[in-house]
Amino acid sequence: MNENIINIKSKISSQCQLVVVTKTRPIETLQGVYELGERHFGENRVQELLPKYESLPKDIHWHLIGHLQSNKVKYIASFIHCIHSVESMSLLEEINKQAAKNNRTIQCLLQIYIAKEETKYGLSENEALEILHSEKLKLLKNIKIVGLMGMATNTENQSVIANEFKILKTFFDSVKNIQSNNIAITELSMGMSSDYELASQMGSTMVRVGSAVFG
Ligand SMILES: *Cc1c(COP(=O)(O)O)cnc(C)c1O
Repeated sequence: MNENIINIKSKISSQCQLVVVTKTRPIETLQGVYELGERHFGENRVQELLPKYESLPKDIHWHLIGHLQSNKVKYIASFIHCIHSVESMSLLEEINKQAAKNNRTIQCLLQIYIAKEETKYGLSENEALEILHSEKLKLLKNIKIVGLMGMATNTENQSVIANEFKILKTFFDSVKNIQSNNIAITELSMGMSSDYELASQMGSTMVRVGSAVFG
């Protein structure tokens, strides 16, 4: 595990944060990752995240990377560091409401649909722009939109993946300068085990890596 982490870090930019995707791994494994010094962990299901959060040290930054149902937000609002998978205004409103109850501001990424697969969640660029420019958004004082997330098509074809990352990076560059009370776009979450090196080269600031860490 340690060698894998060292190897991954040697292939990504020093500006790029490694989020270790710990979904499906047992708590003892997460404890081991923690002892190696990692502090950014990603989980995709609230039910699985909660017992892990309860059992592990409280200086871990937890990232929610999977589809999030509005009725689950209340369980994670007191501690979640960043939600990568925001796909609607109504979800943002619920995150804002629960963050306010906890006197917190929760960092959010808008998940953008870039893959040529029907199964992947996410917003189109136009839908994301609609959210970013909406008057409603300005009223949400307890969230901050800090960036974008995307998942490339699950393919061996590197040029397909590179093209999708380029589309996302271009969109990221076009929204980076939007100024608002709760928008400060600095993070681009792209890259997983099969494509993190390419993602980092193409401007990712956060790679979400699971299987390449655990082997
Ligand atoms: C599982 C998952 C990852 C990590 O996948 P690996 O291929 O194991 O690195 C990254 N992002 C999301 C959204 C995931 O669900």
